Amino acid sequence: MTAQLIDGKAIAAEIRGEVGLRAAKLTEQGVRPGLGVVLVGGDPASQVYVRMKTRACEEAGIMARDILPGGDITQADLLAIVDDLNADPDVHGILVQLPLPKHLNETEVTERIDPSKDVDGFHPVNQGRMAQGSPEAFRPATPAGIQELIKRTGIDTSGRHVVIVGRSNIVGMPMSTIMLQKEDGANATVTVAHSRTKNLAEVTRLGEILIVAVGRPEMITGDMVREGAVVIDVGVNRVDDPSSERGYRLVGDVAFDEAFERASWITPVPGGVGPMTIAMLLKNTVTAAERALRTVASTQPSMG
Ligand code: NAP
Repeated sequence: MTAQLIDGKAIAAEIRGEVGLRAAKLTEQGVRPGLGVVLVGGDPASQVYVRMKTRACEEAGIMARDILPGGDITQADLLAIVDDLNADPDVHGILVQLPLPKHLNETEVTERIDPSKDVDGFHPVNQGRMAQGSPEAFRPATPAGIQELIKRTGIDTSGRHVVIVGRSNIVGMPMSTIMLQKEDGANATVTVAHSRTKNLAEVTRLGEILIVAVGRPEMITGDMVREGAVVIDVGVNRVDDPSSERGYRLVGDVAFDEAFERASWITPVPGGVGPMTIAMLLKNTVTAAERALRTVASTQPSMG
């Protein structure tokens, strides 16, 4: 069998288009959705990512406010920035780019964000609500984007065995929670593998849907993929490539060419999961703005 490609670029563009329509409607009603992005220090990879987010916001009609404190900011000053964004009625979503420099306490910063503005979905209130199946929860953008990719490609997950490799708080763990939900695009039987898993290949070969978020270039080889599986590769790894102009190329956590021969569907790297993450962040921001508008409307005195 050879696989069909899951087109993350096209599906993400579709979502950004839908977000743009919702943002335009809100703006007509007097509320321009706003996203506050805090990037501490000058990490070049994070700067590129933040610039991409800002551009995507602008294209979708979302106001992006970038706050770029130096790498030596104190915990108290960073918390004060979060407090200001929490209090600002023009900011509906807040994102603090992780990881933070070592001297800062990430947990305290994440928990300081107002859960109703936590469009990254990392606040324990949103994580808890998500685990309980609440539709109010903001879900982390990458796993939410993967679910959307699967759904919009028309792949059924109900009753199927989803194997996830990786248990990070931003991908693997929330992915398992989402896939277990009693909802369309989930209802799966879920196995989560990690660095302590024994006989990893035996486990991955069980996956009718195999989702890999490990951060190791091409670790999942073709023989680890079940014939006919759907393969979702979250990994983004730079490997040296003197033949390329930049001196490197991007590869996933899955050996693409080998897996392509066995899978029924597969995401490319780049152009698979990556574009979905920003699209889902924008979607969460517009949702936060719509909720803020409803809250204002419901607290205004009736004219009747
Ligand atoms: P992470 O926090 O480093 O977690 C990696 C996970 O992989 C851990 O749970 C680890 O197990 C597991 N692991 C490591 N080596 C393993 C092995 N040999 N066998 C089985 N499991 C192993 O990484 P992450 O943040 O989830 O990111 C994973 C990858 O996805 C990275 O390449 C990252 O760049 C990419 N990513 C992409 C996007 C996107 O938008 N496309 C978003 C987020 C991340 P332990 O828990 O036991 O240590």
